[in-house]
Amino acid sequence: MKHVRGAGCLILLLTLLTTTLLSACGSLKGAVGETAGAAQVTRYYTYGMFFQLEGFLEEPGEVASAALVLRSGSGEDGTLYRAEVPVSLSKKQGRLRFRSAEKIDEGLCLDTLPTGTCAALLETRDREGTPRYWTLEDETGSDKKPAEPAIEYYTLSHGRGHRKVTTEFRTLGERNTLVFQVRRSRLPADVYDIVIDPGHGGKDPGAQSGGYSERDIVLEEAKAIRTALERAGYKVLLTRDGSEDPEVNMAYTLYDKDGRVNRACASKAKLSLSIHLNYSPNKSQNGVQVYRSRKAGDAFARAIAGGLVDGTGLSYSTMAGKTVPGVYTRTFSTADLREERAKAKAKGFSFYEATTSTDYYFMIREFGGIATGAYVDGRNPDYGTNEYRNSNQGVDGLLCELAFLTNPEDLKVLLQDQRGIASSITNAVDHYVDGLYENPGGQTADLLGKETL
Ligand SMILES: [Zn+2]
Repeated sequence: MKHVRGAGCLILLLTLLTTTLLSACGSLKGAVGETAGAAQVTRYYTYGMFFQLEGFLEEPGEVASAALVLRSGSGEDGTLYRAEVPVSLSKKQGRLRFRSAEKIDEGLCLDTLPTGTCAALLETRDREGTPRYWTLEDETGSDKKPAEPAIEYYTLSHGRGHRKVTTEFRTLGERNTLVFQVRRSRLPADVYDIVIDPGHGGKDPGAQSGGYSERDIVLEEAKAIRTALERAGYKVLLTRDGSEDPEVNMAYTLYDKDGRVNRACASKAKLSLSIHLNYSPNKSQNGVQVYRSRKAGDAFARAIAGGLVDGTGLSYSTMAGKTVPGVYTRTFSTADLREERAKAKAKGFSFYEATTSTDYYFMIREFGGIATGAYVDGRNPDYGTNEYRNSNQGVDGLLCELAFLTNPEDLKVLLQDQRGIASSITNAVDHYVDGLYENPGGQTADLLGKETL
């Protein structure tokens, strides 16, 4: 179809396209098929490259297992995606609760959906294995909050061209359900693939040692990483480029309109790497530490940490608490919470409802919207507001402590092998993205490249 020439062919092409479009719309009702009733969706959102939903079935009957199913209504039975979903029965109300994956960055990878339109259903099976299908209805709004808006997601390109995935509740005949529409699309000017967030800046130097400051080294690393990622075909946003006012306290402008939080969230980027350096009075302390959200899996963080260790002279940090080599999480400790509560009291505002399972680092928690429990709503007079705290499109943010500024061997790599660091991170991102295409989590692999529209 790529080399069609002449008016006759064009008319034929248009006719074919119109017919296909009409039949695709018609068949979407068919995609829903026979249903047992409706399941209620209480939250739906993206985090990184993944789509998630949570909800419940009021009268589930006998359920031994459940799956999220996407159907196009064309082809054999039109199933584009099928993956088991965790379910739990809440005893109190007898409701069957379900969520599409255990971790916020696992399950349905939007990038791997083929172009076309499909409807999502919940499939439940009884002990005999007999399936029943349930439409998914919008129950995301309540007295306390408006319903979540439709999601407009742009895939990472990575040499495959961009696609726009629109996810919304739609009426199909008599019923409503969640619909995914995937189209080839250009990336809008204000949408990015990846955010690179060099830490500190302005009059905040970060860690300092031997005449070097974290602020300046991470900026150079970040610029090199941007160049390498752009060469690999990604569209990259830097949250600061060194042109910031040297007198401005960046720690207090995080949540301004042009601050790093709102800029990163507005970019609709899928992935973000905040670049930092570690500090220790013990000069032998060294190595890479990558922090991820406590609610996420290890895959992305492991790819970055492993890439740095394989591709440079850096090694994994030996610090305790890792989930896999080089990968860490940090949530508020009881001491942190006590301290934050005391600060809030002194400044006269009621402290946020953070707990010991809330992500501690703002660039992980606040970049992720509802997926990671972002909460900065402007009540603290020192800060602005995270305008995207209720967003149902979260950026998968990692905090990368590349190395220790205080360790002589680490410092040597930081100063002398910026290109190695940049290409290792780029290879790691490529590896992670390619891995999702090879193993998308559900049964979409054999359908990739198959055009349904
Ligand atoms: Zn730092």
